[in-house]
Amino acid sequence: MIELELVTPERLAFTEQADFVVLPGLEGEIGVLPGHAPLLTQLAAGELRIQRGDNTELFAVSGGFAEVLRDRVRVFAETAEMHGEIDAERARLAAERARKELKAAANPADLEQAQAALRRALLRLRISEGLSRRRKK
Ligand code: ATP
Repeated sequence: MIELELVTPERLAFTEQADFVVLPGLEGEIGVLPGHAPLLTQLAAGELRIQRGDNTELFAVSGGFAEVLRDRVRVFAETAEMHGEIDAERARLAAERARKELKAAANPADLEQAQAALRRALLRLRISEGLSRRRKK
């Protein structure tokens, strides 16, 4: 088993026992099984998957870093929402706003900010919609 700890600046640590954890690394997904070699990695905006038996919990995380120490994974995320917590309408509006900001961006910093906002919004939409599609099957 892996002890997964998820911390954000806004919420108390969330702790969960897992068989398998998938982290959104900057260069792609990182799968962690018990006994994984220690590592420290930066996180991209992406999906955090926590698998225990047949149950998988999905979180949208928007960057941060993670520390893997054999049977313990600590995720320090800038923001994290469990799939059920995602407000899809809010994410849709955020994507719309970010697209407008992309078009209006007058300098590289504004452009980067708009791109990051769009990535967060699309990620939140993908996670909330992906799950409802799966549920319908
Ligand atoms: P918005 O423009 O809608 O605020 P944002 O990408 O700017 O989106 P963040 O700065 O990433 O928002 O997050 C601010 C807080 O709001 C965090 O606690 C984050 O978990 C939460 N949050 C952001 N978007 C959503 C959403 N669609 N559903 C649920 N919580 C959200």
